[in-house]
Amino acid sequence: MNAKVWLVGAGPGDPELLTLKAVRALQHAQVVMIDDLVNPAVLEHCPQAQVIAVGKRGGCRSTPQAFIQRLMLRHARQGRCVVRLKGGDPCIFGRGGEEATWLQGHGIEVEVVNGITAGLAGATQCGISLTSRGVSRGVTLVTAHTQDDSELNWAALAQGGTTLVVYMGVARLAQIRQGLLEGGMAPTTPVAMIENASLPGQRECRSDVRTMLEDARSFALRSPAILVIGEVVAGERMVLEGMAAAG
Ligand code: SAH
Repeated sequence: MNAKVWLVGAGPGDPELLTLKAVRALQHAQVVMIDDLVNPAVLEHCPQAQVIAVGKRGGCRSTPQAFIQRLMLRHARQGRCVVRLKGGDPCIFGRGGEEATWLQGHGIEVEVVNGITAGLAGATQCGISLTSRGVSRGVTLVTAHTQDDSELNWAALAQGGTTLVVYMGVARLAQIRQGLLEGGMAPTTPVAMIENASLPGQRECRSDVRTMLEDARSFALRSPAILVIGEVVAGERMVLEGMAAAG
């Protein structure tokens, strides 16, 4: 495998949800730069590699994005095969696109390997089918956290008729509720708040738009968690053999 940077999705947490392509990239990697939402168990596929943690949680402060990018560039220019391992999918709220174009602009070859994004895995692990026929005509992935603190178009989301999957929402439940209610969503619309999706510590708090804030508090909901908002949450659930949900 030539020297280049692989932007690889590690999936939501369960190491078995890695793709074969991700495993192959890890097996060939000389340097692996790992984000903090990545389950370190996946490193069993790259015992040969130098592993660099660039996550935001481990230390007190985040590793600056520019520093991470320069580090990737340096290792790639030294001829090493670099894997940048990100939680879920690298291009779903993961800055994958940004990093790929920046590296390519510096003459580095880039390959992007999809991963299973947390929102999709979380719903499935709780038995929720996000696009149940006759209930939901689509699914919308949104982040509650924006760089400039601008608000989403909640009215469009509230009235769009799709299931909403909200990332990075734990600290913004009050704004999400307000936006949805003011946007015309029924207060009784069901909500599932899913913490540590696909991991042994997975937990689900069932609620609705009206009481989601209080329910999350009494449940002590913590990040990382996704919210699934829509009628599919209240529908009949799939019962999956070997579900990660521990209770
Ligand atoms: N690229 C990632 C998302 C990164 S943004 C992906 O595709 O999944 C970080 C947010 O993802 C978290 O705040 C949380 O909302 C969600 N997230 C990531 N891993 C999660 C997990 N195991 N369980 C629940 N939510 C998760």
